Formats: sequence, C-alpha cells, structure tokens
Amino acid sequence: PIYLDYAATTPTAPEAVEAMLPYLTQSGLFANPASTQHCLGEAAESAVERARTQIAELIGAHAKDFIFTSGATESNNLAIKGIALTYRDRGRHIITSAIEHKSVLDTCKYLESEGFSVTYLSPNREGMINTKDLLNAVTDETIMVTIMHVNNETGVIQPIEQIADALADTNLFFHVDAAQSAGKLAIDLSKTPIDLLSISAHKFYGPKGIGGLYVRNRKKTRLTPMMHGGGQEHNLRPGTLASHQIAGMANAFKIAHENLSNDFEHCRQLKRTLINSLHRIEGVTLNGGQTHTLPNILNVSFDNVGSDSLIIALRDRLAIASGSACNSGAIEASYVLRAMAIEGDRLYGAVRISFGRYTTEAEILNAGDAIISEVTRLRELALT
Ligand code: PLP
Repeated sequence: PIYLDYAATTPTAPEAVEAMLPYLTQSGLFANPASTQHCLGEAAESAVERARTQIAELIGAHAKDFIFTSGATESNNLAIKGIALTYRDRGRHIITSAIEHKSVLDTCKYLESEGFSVTYLSPNREGMINTKDLLNAVTDETIMVTIMHVNNETGVIQPIEQIADALADTNLFFHVDAAQSAGKLAIDLSKTPIDLLSISAHKFYGPKGIGGLYVRNRKKTRLTPMMHGGGQEHNLRPGTLASHQIAGMANAFKIAHENLSNDFEHCRQLKRTLINSLHRIEGVTLNGGQTHTLPNILNVSFDNVGSDSLIIALRDRLAIASGSACNSGAIEASYVLRAMAIEGDRLYGAVRISFGRYTTEAEILNAGDAIISEVTRLRELALT
C-alpha cells in the first residue's frame, strides 16, 4: 500500500540509520555513555554530547537545557507533571486546549484527579486557539500554560510566538508540544520565550523511542522528575542513554533542517495535487483553516461516506487514518474536529492524509484516484 500516514510516524532516513550503526556494534561506540572511567565510555559520552549540542543549536537553545527522553509522550508528561508537582503551592490551575494530543490531555486529566483544575480552550472553526481567550483564562491560581505548536490532525499552526510573548512578563510556565512541528518549521528559542518544549525523533525521519525536552534555565524552571535512578540527564530523566537512538535523532534533525524549505515546498506541491484530484467529485470538504497550516497534512471529509468504511475499503491500497492514529484502533469521531464545532457527516467522514519527503507525485495521483473510486462506489452502495 501507499503510505500516507506520515503524521503518525515517518520512515527513518537512510542517513540516520547509517549514523546509528556505530553505536550498536563492538567495533564502534557501543559503550555506556555513563562509563566515563574508561576511554570507550568517554568516547560514547562525547558522541552523545555532540548530538545534544547539534540538536540544541538547531532550536536556538543551549545544550545544557536539552534532555533526552523516549519521545514526546514522555516529554509532555515530564513537563506538565514536573511543573505541577514542583509549583503546586503557588497555584493549582493549568491552561491547555481541547485539541492537544492525548499525552497532554490525559496528563491534565490525571492532575485534575490530584486536585488541580484545568481550562481546556476551544479553537475556532479553523482549528486555531485564540491568544486573547487564553489570557482571559489566567487566574491567580494559574501556574502553567501548555499549547501545541502544530495540531496532529489538521496541521494547523497555533500562535505560540504570540502566546509566548504575551506570557513573557508573567511567572507562568509556557510548555509547547512541538512533536508535529520540529524539523518542519523553524523554532528559535533564543528569540521566543518558551520555557519547555517537547520534540520526538520519529516525526522528523529519526528512529522511534527517542525524543527530548527543552527546559529553559533548569535552576529557574524546576521539574519534579517522574523517574528516579542513576542520575543521568541532571537527575530529570535517569536511565542509560540510548546512544544509537540519539545519534540517529541528531542526524535526522540536521537533515530535516537542511531540507526544511525543500520538504515544505515538496509537501505543498503534493497537497495541491491531492486537493485538485479530490475536487473532481462533489461533496468534498477540507477541515481546518488552509492558510496557517503545515502542508504535510490534509484533513478531508466526503459527504455521505463514513471514514471507517472508506479507510477499511482502501486498507490494502492506502495507509490513511481517521483522526489521530496515535491512539486509534477503534475508529471514533475525532475530538479535535468536534472541538472545532464540526458535526454530522463532516465529523464522521473525516480522514487524515499525511505525506512527506519520500512521497511521490505519482503516489498522490494514485491515491486520489483510489479515494475517488471508493467514495463513488460507497455513495452508490448507500443509494441502493
Ligand atoms: N504530541 C503530538 C502532537 C503528536 O502528534 C504525537 C504523536 O504521536 C505525540 C505528542 C506523541 O509522540 P511520541 O510518539 O514521541 O510519544
């Protein structure tokens, strides 16, 4: 099948795979980066630190402010619970949005069960959070704000720079889940006053199971760790560092930045082709605003066709998703689109088609043809 689920995960770049190999085998740098008593461990440690510096520089951060985690789920948990537990005596209110990834929403739900209160901001119909609504939600009890950079179902870019500037003179911590934007949109933390930022390698052509959390000035942004152990990552995230994953992540991140505008332009072209192809039939609605978005995600509904029947009918030919594939299995209506006040057919018929660096124009044209013929067939079936 044609893979059109890049927002769920990307294939690992061949260059990144290559970069990982020396950290796995006996002839290479496989030693534990914490075993600095011997020179093999020391070599592994300096490789990890080189990777850390490389990643940090690409987001305008200091290497000492960037820690490795297993991915954005862990980073989001550590950022949100880590702040909440440290600063609970200052206040117990958190502001987020209704369209965040489950790793943010469920972390907030957990904190509600522990006595915190959470405001879930609604987006407008285009899928965008409003900075004024956010500022109006701030109370004396608020300690942190957590808003995603790019939504994983619609690709809509949230106004995080504006929010960061608006919060800059307050004592609120601002966390950004940048899982969908890192390596696709430039982020400059030396200019944007964000306190915490989560990233995940497998969304930018790196390996799965590795990511990171930026923590601005750890002495001022004190996190309560979620795990306890051998002291790695300033005690914030102990555990033997996955040096091969880290090397793959750094390599993939570097390539993603070298290709930032090429990848963007390539996806823009593919998206245009796909939209033109789908508009050959009637009753096609795009979900989410189309001006402030990343071009690698197209969320689209077809009148009179449920997303589950369409996805199942295309299963062997196209890998596409309904809503968030990260927690799918059971197909249910998207809470993101629901929060955007999308309802009826448009809600239940929404599919997410996402693509990337390795997707070809021919694949998009084939996908467009396959979708059109299945939508047409399913509509005819519904009439008989
Ligand atoms: N946040 C967003 C916006 C995502 O799209 C994902 C994707 O799965 C995650 C967080 C979780 O990332 P990870 O798979 O690295 O845990």
